[in-house]
Amino acid sequence: MSSNKKYWKSVEELNENSSIVEALRNNEFVEAIPTDEFLGDKTNLSSSATSRRDFLKYVGFSTAAASLAACEGPVHKSIPYVVQPDQIIPGVADYYATSVFDGFDFANLLVKTREGRPIKIDNNTISGAKFAANARIHASILSLYDSMRLKQPKIAGKAAAWSDVNAKITAGIADAKAKAKQVVLLTNTLASPSTEKLIAEFIAKNPNAKHVIYDAVSESEALDAFEAVYGERALVDYDFSKASLIVSVGADLLGDWQGGSYDSGYAKGRIPKNGKMSRHYQFEANMTLSGAAADKRIPMSTANQKQALVKIYNVITNSAVSTSLDKEFDAVVTKAAQQLKAAGSQGVLVSGIQDTNAQLLVLAINQALASASFSTIGTRQIRKGSNAKVAQLIKEMEAGSVHTLIMSGVNPVYTLPNSTEFSAALKKVSVSVTFSLKEDETAVLTSIAAAVPHYLESWNDLSITKGAYALTQPTIRPLFETKQFQDVLISLNGNAGTYYDYLRANATTIVAGTSWNQVVHDGIYTGAASAATARPVDYSSAASALSKVKASEGFELVLYTKTGLGDGQQANNPWLQEFPDPITRVSWDNYLTVSRFDADKLGLTNEIVANGGLNGSYATLTVNGIKLENVPVIVQPGQAKGTVGMALGYGRKAAMKEEMMVGINAYSLYKGFNSLQSAQLAKGNGDHEFACVQGQKTLMGRGDIIKETTLEIFNTKDAKEWNEVPMVSLDHKEVEATSVDLWTSFDRSVGHHFNLSIDLNACTGCGACVIACHAENNVPVVGKAEVRRSRDMHWLRIDRYYSSEDTFAEDNEKKENFDGLFGDKGSLDGFGQMEKPADNPQVSFQPVMCQHCNHAPCETVCPVAATSHGRQGQNQMAYNRCVGTRYCANNCPYKVRRFNWFLYNKNSEFDYNMNDDLGRMVLNPDVNVRSRGVMEKCSMCIQMTQATILKAKREGRTVVDGEFQTACSNACSTGAMVFGDVNDKESHVAVLAEDDRMYHLLEHVGTKPNVIYHVKVRNT
Ligand code: SF4
Repeated sequence: MSSNKKYWKSVEELNENSSIVEALRNNEFVEAIPTDEFLGDKTNLSSSATSRRDFLKYVGFSTAAASLAACEGPVHKSIPYVVQPDQIIPGVADYYATSVFDGFDFANLLVKTREGRPIKIDNNTISGAKFAANARIHASILSLYDSMRLKQPKIAGKAAAWSDVNAKITAGIADAKAKAKQVVLLTNTLASPSTEKLIAEFIAKNPNAKHVIYDAVSESEALDAFEAVYGERALVDYDFSKASLIVSVGADLLGDWQGGSYDSGYAKGRIPKNGKMSRHYQFEANMTLSGAAADKRIPMSTANQKQALVKIYNVITNSAVSTSLDKEFDAVVTKAAQQLKAAGSQGVLVSGIQDTNAQLLVLAINQALASASFSTIGTRQIRKGSNAKVAQLIKEMEAGSVHTLIMSGVNPVYTLPNSTEFSAALKKVSVSVTFSLKEDETAVLTSIAAAVPHYLESWNDLSITKGAYALTQPTIRPLFETKQFQDVLISLNGNAGTYYDYLRANATTIVAGTSWNQVVHDGIYTGAASAATARPVDYSSAASALSKVKASEGFELVLYTKTGLGDGQQANNPWLQEFPDPITRVSWDNYLTVSRFDADKLGLTNEIVANGGLNGSYATLTVNGIKLENVPVIVQPGQAKGTVGMALGYGRKAAMKEEMMVGINAYSLYKGFNSLQSAQLAKGNGDHEFACVQGQKTLMGRGDIIKETTLEIFNTKDAKEWNEVPMVSLDHKEVEATSVDLWTSFDRSVGHHFNLSIDLNACTGCGACVIACHAENNVPVVGKAEVRRSRDMHWLRIDRYYSSEDTFAEDNEKKENFDGLFGDKGSLDGFGQMEKPADNPQVSFQPVMCQHCNHAPCETVCPVAATSHGRQGQNQMAYNRCVGTRYCANNCPYKVRRFNWFLYNKNSEFDYNMNDDLGRMVLNPDVNVRSRGVMEKCSMCIQMTQATILKAKREGRTVVDGEFQTACSNACSTGAMVFGDVNDKESHVAVLAEDDRMYHLLEHVGTKPNVIYHVKVRNT
């Protein structure tokens, strides 16, 4: 708890109401020092108006006053535990298993709470809990403490009592019945057996009621196809760890495609084992995380993707449906199809094309392959929406046949493409209710805005996949006057009791052979599910219908969801707004991604201006008659020619802090819930200022930052060839850099010695680690303007490098041959050329944090020894000692140190979570909140390693492998990050440290880092 003690320097400051206080706060020097007046008068220099007697009088008074003030102790207002709860030990974290599904994201979680306050999300790693948290779910802990939450129910915009809300809805339902009109429940996909049962009971009681499911980001076509073949509205839950060949046609399987959460299975097959790893072909228009990870990425318009899919279908099923694939793609598509056929059950094909025929072909191809990754057992239940039913509902509302509309988990006024139609139709509905966390775009238009608790304050159950059962349990008492939608439904059904009682009674019928308490403890229960049986379907008609789809006129606009904001539910979350997009590295914006080819044609540019910020042209985008002016443009390497991309989830205006109202609402272009639209593009006026943390740079010849090789070389050549140790000169002889030491080394073999291993093959760039680091270490948000000035505070960044298959060696050669600054061989032009990435670059992600060098260059230059080396390998920062010279940052070759240019805490200039009491509830009490003028950086989560050591000590045992974690390694579900004690020779990290693929960043500098990397291997 912080002190209430007040520090003051003058009486005026103590009085607070003096104008000088205000002036002092704002200006270090309130008025100019009258030096001219003083120096111009010689008498002033020789005598003073203050006598010695006066001087002693004032000094004496000040000293006495200061002594008196020092006797007063600080006043801490705290409430003790009169009866301490058994489970809570102050200072020790408690963990609760829970699960989340917000209509878009889902995961099985462990929630860390401190003194009853949830402060961090971790993954539930219990056997059977297979869905890990993505960046957005990690950030959802902050949304619990969002100051813009709806804090009580409102009727017609005014605070109301829950009894009045209930009465009004009940009257609405009765009136609807009397007038023979409809009552409609419009919800997101629920995937909750108990809620679905409650809704079924509600409909049984009110035959004039119906349930419409609406997914803001639709998977309707994939659902329609699956339903047509298997008779069940669900999605396949793929297991990519079983595939030796993955072919994706427009599916961002490492992003949000069909709910996402596929990265851990995918990464298992990507780490070379016994000379083998999976191969991945990606045909896509926008550059995605999946395209970045693929071995072979082919930029391709969606029109061509449809033809490619038909072609692959032909090869796999020996069919001969005619296609009109562009010639340039013929060879590569045929090759992928033949390899897929050869892979047989080891192959899998997925597609994100929003066309029912395309999705039917996906089922046909995987059936024909008998793909082991494709199973109809345990299908995904997380998308059920029907585009047709939502369109029908709007028509019914317009016709006036809907009397009462009850919405939960949806925000159609923001997310519907025809939102104005919906808003107009809403006026014809007599009673409209929105159950919502926020007074969002929809809630402000409905007659009742019903405040719901956050999932961390709620009870619920989930069936993310068929047969699996998970519980959502509250980890804190509701912060506001909120009620769950289900609790209201129970009373509308005329029943007593709470949703908790209902849920518990229902759960006992689902979880056989185990107790309720066990399921609450574990968070999950794994039941059995049977496979769905396929019906005979005419796939060849689907193939010929798909092959006849005409390419759209003008540009293809491919709408997508970004890793940061997803569908936009958490747009008021500053961690997510500041999160740099893994591909473009732009934070705080959405934009149009345009290929270099098209940008050159239209005169659209990106340039880095004098202050290091990135500027981009504005474009005018016209889609289906909707004209959007001033759309910022990012020239995106790898974007397919003739296509442009734009992210959904931005441009929110309701229940948002002003700083967070950024970007353009692309849902307005999402006509027919289709991510593919035909668009016209023209150059607009002026430039947009981006907050981009990394320009589109290549390696610029620094080959030992990212190291990569091909599987063939990896399998056939000596490690020294593909993981070359840099050479340095010692006594005029070339020796391996690892054999030279500038300093005498300490004996580090005693006690714990921590290493963090990062496998470039397994890292998908998902960014979960970045947000986890934010939460664990109280990393401040600095805002768009500061990020643009290169002052972002992320302790962990995911560098994104572009390269092309043949430019890496060329870059090195070019750099070697630089001759002077100017001219053909000049380094100025030369580096510029190297920065111009290829049209279809390969992408590598590299998480970089403090490397905790054993021979740390930062430590040797700190004049006050604020940064020094710990016994366990951690490079430490004593914030109290730091005087902010920033010598350490200058001397750090990895650029991982962050300087607090401002006070980001309790400062209205930075109106993010640290500026309000509610937002500060997320702060981790084990980590200092840094003040202005100090340097901060990754600490290898020293608070976590110390807590682990203390726990083991208390329990009288040694720490077991896997117990030591950092926030990032804990969050990384792909296994890319492994943390541990290298002095424990049996530990996973110690084994990885000896691996042939292991290398250090900038080995030749001789810093001896404790962060190790593993060479990326591509199966090209
Ligand atoms: S290290 Fe892990 S969590 Fe971080 S970006 Fe890579 S895959 Fe995601």
